[in-house]
Amino acid sequence: MATVIDGKAVAAEVIETVKNASQTLQTETGVTPGIAVVIVGEDPASQVYVASKGRKARECGFHSVEHTLPESTSEADLLRLVEDLNNDPSIHGILVQLPLPSHIDESLVIQKISPEKDVDGFHVINTGKLTVGDIDEAFVSCTPAGSMLLIERVRGGDLSGLNAIVIGRSNIVGKPMASLLLAANATVTVGHSRTPDLPAACRNADIVVAAVGRPEMVKKDWIKPGATIIDVGINRIPAPERGEGKTRLVGDVAYEECSEVAGAITPVPGGVGPMTIAMLMANTVVSAYRAAGRTPPK
Ligand code: NDP
Repeated sequence: MATVIDGKAVAAEVIETVKNASQTLQTETGVTPGIAVVIVGEDPASQVYVASKGRKARECGFHSVEHTLPESTSEADLLRLVEDLNNDPSIHGILVQLPLPSHIDESLVIQKISPEKDVDGFHVINTGKLTVGDIDEAFVSCTPAGSMLLIERVRGGDLSGLNAIVIGRSNIVGKPMASLLLAANATVTVGHSRTPDLPAACRNADIVVAAVGRPEMVKKDWIKPGATIIDVGINRIPAPERGEGKTRLVGDVAYEECSEVAGAITPVPGGVGPMTIAMLMANTVVSAYRAAGRTPPK
């Protein structure tokens, strides 16, 4: 049976490091890391994410500000708020919760965030730095960065000689994940909805990162024995066995059956999810160190 990769435990270690770094920065320079989270509209899932980001930021000793704007907020008003936050020296990380209402151009808003405060790592300057291998200078998108940390725990930092597949090619998960694996010397395949024989491509992989958004799509017979599986997917499915109308969370990987052949696997929940928020806090403390003219801790 596969080793279960405990994302909660690794995330707790990251948060502990962030707390200490935040404390040291405050003591030595008087600078408190500051994060601003902006949410537009009333999407319940977004509200849960924003609340948990705020809680975690306070736990890390950050100055945390939340801007909750009505669904009817205009694009111009949102851009003005982002500009104000860009100019606010007490804020080192700006996060605009996605998705935005359809009348607002998401890309325009993300590109408005100062790259130095783009702790989500979505700005083209940061994705560009990642793509050219300038990883220490970039803010890397939090979910792939967290996934990479979990891979390092199992496989070490140098993936030379290993084949990896990333299933999914989104700008926030699949593509940055592929760049990180490549930077760690893995031989990388990126699968997507037009890939003709995904199971065959997957069977060749020592590392499988599934970021698709399809419940339990990756099956046991796709997995090379001993492979490391990182399941990014978060899918809510009906769970009638828990009672009428009940649901449960599953990943993009059929967890039970794939555990029988994999070497190591992340659970859902409790795998990649907690890492995402931990990496957001890590990026924010790094931004605060840079703003204070200090070298951020590793
Ligand atoms: P997107 O919907 O943006 O991208 C999904 C990708 O999967 C696309 O590249 C798409 O291909 C590909 N895909 C869809 N269907 C298939 C298929 N049948 N076979 C092969 N490839 C397919 O999703 P995200 O990248 O934003 O998120 C992916 C998953 O990760 C979701 O479940 C999301 O909830 C979860 N997630 C989890 C996070 C966490 O913190 N754990 C954070 C972010 C996301 P194509 O490009 O060809 O359309």
